[in-house]
Amino acid sequence: MAAPLDSLPEALRFHSPAALVDIGANLTHESFAADMEAVLDRARAANVTTFIVTGTDLDHARQAVALADAHPGLYATAGVHPHDASQWSSSLATEMAALYQHDKVVAVGECGLDFNRNYATPTEQERAFEAQLTLAAEHGLPLFLHERDASKRMREILASWRDSLSDAVIHCFTADKTALYAYLDLDLHIGLTGWICDERRGHHLRELVSSIALDRLMIETDCPYLLPRNLPAKLKGRRHEPALLPWINAEIARWYGIDADELGRATTATAQRFFRLPAAS
Ligand SMILES: [Zn+2]
Repeated sequence: MAAPLDSLPEALRFHSPAALVDIGANLTHESFAADMEAVLDRARAANVTTFIVTGTDLDHARQAVALADAHPGLYATAGVHPHDASQWSSSLATEMAALYQHDKVVAVGECGLDFNRNYATPTEQERAFEAQLTLAAEHGLPLFLHERDASKRMREILASWRDSLSDAVIHCFTADKTALYAYLDLDLHIGLTGWICDERRGHHLRELVSSIALDRLMIETDCPYLLPRNLPAKLKGRRHEPALLPWINAEIARWYGIDADELGRATTATAQRFFRLPAAS
């Protein structure tokens, strides 16, 4: 567990010219429990003003809703991650449906398919995923989707559901060009993280980012995970946090070939529309 930090090293105190939305912040993670206010203050100082807190199972979704109720600018998703898909049951579906009535719950998810780790079997994952697609269709909510090493099956399932769904974002997109083009053909949104900063496994994204229209692209930290590997200073504890989102925004903008301000304004407008957020004050 990372030690609470009072401040970031000088070189990591970024400031985005445009107000940013972090569409994937795992702020229910235990590493944030001790210093949540400071984390949010540092983010706001960096001009990261809106946070979609990821709910990955019933407990975490409830915690995400509680955080959203307690802090301005925070919203929650509610779903069951593919790693936890074996928990799915009809009573869980009922509890989730109750959360979708809450006005700070802005998406169904994180849900989807992960055939990389297979913590739940593919059959369990597909069952939980399709049940959550049903809930998203019934409640008219957008979807926050996770996919790892499962893009072919994900595409097949989404193709058959697409007409019943409003919007869906593939969060932390890391796959290849074929998958990206197929997702864009399904009129999905794409979430990009600091994965693009990872010289071991993420540089293939550099050539792909400009294929994503600005009204389909959103940005996220996926904190506390996925600390960008090319930060200009070491971060004690190595816990990723929303204050670092401007670094990711600037990196994506560089490979997109536009300036960071323009990318920031566009991804914020896209996120506000996608999650139906009130206009920024
Ligand atoms: Zn994920």
